[in-house]
Amino acid sequence: MIEVAQLHKSFGVHEILKGIDLTVHQGEIVVIIGPSGSGKSTLLRCLNCLELPSSGTVKVEGTSFSDESGRYNEKRVARLRTEIGMVFQGFNLFPMMTAIQNVMAAQIKIRKKSAEEAKKTAEKYLTKVGLAERMNHYPNQLSGGQKQRVAIARALAMEPNIMLFDEATSALDPELVGEVLKVIRELADEGMTMVLVTHEMRFAEEVGDRIIFMDKGVIVEEGKPSDIFNAPKHQRTKLFINQVL
Ligand code: ATP
Ligand code: MG
Repeated sequence: MIEVAQLHKSFGVHEILKGIDLTVHQGEIVVIIGPSGSGKSTLLRCLNCLELPSSGTVKVEGTSFSDESGRYNEKRVARLRTEIGMVFQGFNLFPMMTAIQNVMAAQIKIRKKSAEEAKKTAEKYLTKVGLAERMNHYPNQLSGGQKQRVAIARALAMEPNIMLFDEATSALDPELVGEVLKVIRELADEGMTMVLVTHEMRFAEEVGDRIIFMDKGVIVEEGKPSDIFNAPKHQRTKLFINQVL
């Protein structure tokens, strides 16, 4: 569960997030949509403390990233972050490591697992994302869709409670989008708590329990997919939906 209260984030004089309140329940799939520059990625990055809020709080499983005095303690942030997996548009794989080495690395470094244990877990999750036959390939020997599935396996291997996806399919050729969405859909079916930012509106509608429409740093409207896509209440939501559908 994630609880965000009155989250503000500024870069210099620019206020990018202007008071976000958002609760993501256990097992819920929340999809964030909105125009470019509306603050979707910034919000997602605040959810796992890749960005520190200017004010407001983010709690993960009941624990705030900041301590009682509002300070961010590295240890606490590092611990909470292990509960949250994140997948980006770019895959950020280590080019000199094979798929399985990529999935093993953080398990050994952060989870302090033995190489043997890490390998077992890596094999499990690479198999889960359909890459049992590609474990010993290097990133440059994999397609974009395969690279992204390695990135998903790497996040899953940390056994997080929550997964964040920031436009995980945007960098992919159209014919490779499906194989990545399939993996995300399977995670949804298994009850993983997820927050997704996506431009794939059909997928958002199909997989989302709740759609959040953001514009200019605020949540303009949120609701069930059928309501947001078929009967948006706000003019700004209507305009956006008409543009993208
Ligand atoms: P897109 O759909 O294009 O990915 P977005 O909704 O994810 O857009 P953000 O990436 O959150 O938007 O950016 C929101 C605003 O914050 C933009 O104007 C961006 O330039 C600004 N911004 C984001 N990160 C930084 C940063 N580290 N320093 C300064 N400005 C930033
Ligand atoms: Mg973005």
